Amino acid sequence: MKVIDTPELTPDQVIAQAMQAKQKPTGKLLDKKLLPSRGVFYPNDIYVTPFTGMDLKDLTNITTNVNQVIYKILGKRIQGVAVNDILINDKLWFLYYIRDLTYKGKEIAVKCTCPNCGAQTVKQYTFDKLHVVHYDKHLPDKQLKMPNDDLVEFAFPTIGTEIQINRLKNDPNVIEAIDDQFMLLASYIKSINGKKQSIMDTYFYVQNVDAMTFCFIVNTLDKYSFVCDRTASFTCDCGAELNPIIEMDQDFFIPKLF
Ligand SMILES: [Zn+2]
Repeated sequence: MKVIDTPELTPDQVIAQAMQAKQKPTGKLLDKKLLPSRGVFYPNDIYVTPFTGMDLKDLTNITTNVNQVIYKILGKRIQGVAVNDILINDKLWFLYYIRDLTYKGKEIAVKCTCPNCGAQTVKQYTFDKLHVVHYDKHLPDKQLKMPNDDLVEFAFPTIGTEIQINRLKNDPNVIEAIDDQFMLLASYIKSINGKKQSIMDTYFYVQNVDAMTFCFIVNTLDKYSFVCDRTASFTCDCGAELNPIIEMDQDFFIPKLF
């Protein structure tokens, strides 16, 4: 048998090859259309790798800051989008997706009580049953005129925005306790009258607008919202819809497979 002669590599070539291997994405190419956002805000291909034992240990031993743990895990498992650029409304979906990838579609038994007939049943959750409201109706690119005549431009908050908000909440210089609901609304406002706003500015703005303008903001965001609300969709034998929350507990992350 003829042996193919491979020339020896110089140290530089070895390094170059190693660098290339490092840059090459690993994991599964994500079908971005599955995401609540449909991936329209992520220009690059996204690759996802399964959880490791270390990830599972971190995810099932959360004592203080749950978000810090989630950011760390998403940062390790997702390539093609920076953690800070992941939209908040896609964040939890990724955990369900990665769990599904990790355990190759393994189902979870979920106890359901029917709100209609009262029947108690056990349903098998698989990833395709996860209830997702997709971003199918796109926000207009232009600024929208509000009832108070101000022009507003909306954008969807990212993990970066969430980090900023948490920093404000823990800032001893911010004396006023931050109201989560107002802050959530504020985080969707990108600019007012063409001027980029800080999160604190929009927070005060939303708190002080008149009722008509407030309704406009709430209803507009409602119209374009997308989310993974952590529930799954099943149908009871009586025909009623069952929407249990799929808890991210110990059994979710470390199922009894063996
Ligand atoms: Zn029923």
